[in-house]
Amino acid sequence: MEKVILVINAGSSSLKFSVFELQDTGEMRVRAVGQVEGLGTAPRLKAKDGKGQSIADECWPNSQVANHAQALQEIATLLRSRFAGQVLAGVGHRVVHGGPDYSAPLLVTPEAMDALAAFVPLAPLHQPHNLAAIRAVQAVQPELPQVACFDTAFHRTQDMVGQLYGLPYEYYERGIRRYGFHGLSYEYIAATLPTIAPEIASGRVVVAHLGSGASMCALLNGRSVGSSMGFTALDGLMMGTRPGNMDPGIVLYLLQQDGLSAKEIEDLLYKRSGLLGLSGIGNDMRVLLASDAPRASLAIDHFIYRIKRELGALAAVLGGLDALVFTAGIGENSARIRQLVCEQAQWLGIDLDLAANEQGSARISSAGSRVSAWVVPTNEELMIARHTCKLLAL
Ligand code: ADP
Repeated sequence: MEKVILVINAGSSSLKFSVFELQDTGEMRVRAVGQVEGLGTAPRLKAKDGKGQSIADECWPNSQVANHAQALQEIATLLRSRFAGQVLAGVGHRVVHGGPDYSAPLLVTPEAMDALAAFVPLAPLHQPHNLAAIRAVQAVQPELPQVACFDTAFHRTQDMVGQLYGLPYEYYERGIRRYGFHGLSYEYIAATLPTIAPEIASGRVVVAHLGSGASMCALLNGRSVGSSMGFTALDGLMMGTRPGNMDPGIVLYLLQQDGLSAKEIEDLLYKRSGLLGLSGIGNDMRVLLASDAPRASLAIDHFIYRIKRELGALAAVLGGLDALVFTAGIGENSARIRQLVCEQAQWLGIDLDLAANEQGSARISSAGSRVSAWVVPTNEELMIARHTCKLLAL
């Protein structure tokens, strides 16, 4: 019987899932992709098969599917009917925080769950939901092996100097250090470069993961040596609703002068800033690019400006640059944003091939460009499935 792997990415109000089938060749084929969204408000399950055909579209009253456990029950019912003849061999989870020590995926055990729960204060908006999904699977099928794959793990190759903050040393020991995120995406890109761009795979590469969350990573010979995100996923680039790097004095000012509570500041920094806050229109780059409102252009200009600054900083960490790689929703789909970034990076040696960029080719820099530019679609789910297979020796 064929084996399948379930991959779960649990957020605060959604539970995304993918089903991968193990092929005899060792490759993995995607058989289903879907999500329960609107948890807590208007729950809805949508799923497609591997060819993109809808296999589920269902809504419930909030009282019926109110949490991750109930959402998982609905997903389990769907998967049992679709994959009746196949064996579910394991579940891989995206877990945002692996703390200072986990530099690789982990087989979930009761002890591991205790260790991962200790990182909840480091990622209060994500970690509890990731762990809730693991517990929900345990409740349905306690014997099923589960694997936790961390967004922070790939960055544990960074040296200590780069992970420090200039706080008293004991803060570092307490875990207040730069962790970096989007690690599964960067790991996938690093694993893919030797095939699609072998000439740069072992060089000095900056990857720009530009989605609704956005960050950049410096890769040296496929290993992370620097990242724009730090202790939390608030640092670095400006994002859809997060401001990115800012003077911590602003937080003090808001606390002391405006009397904002910690919760209100959290809401401001995670949900009301970034492209949304600057434009006053929204956080969807497509909407901003189509708008002629002055603040939509201002938000885009600032988005590009921040990428330019971070690119310079990461090129300095690398001691030079061989290639820039774009990925994630904006990076993969917006030729305009790629063009604006590359124009700002001409001084580094990037010469964009406008036609290749418009066509969405893999290589988008001209043949003579000293530093090459690329578009590489990311696939965090496949990375999790690969880790799960490897750890479970499937
Ligand atoms: P995440 O996984 O962080 O939610 P994605 O990587 O899916 O985000 O990226 C989502 C973002 O990508 C959307 O907010 C949207 O602004 C942007 N996006 C998607 N397609 C396009 C496009 N064609 N042009 C510009 N932006 C796009």
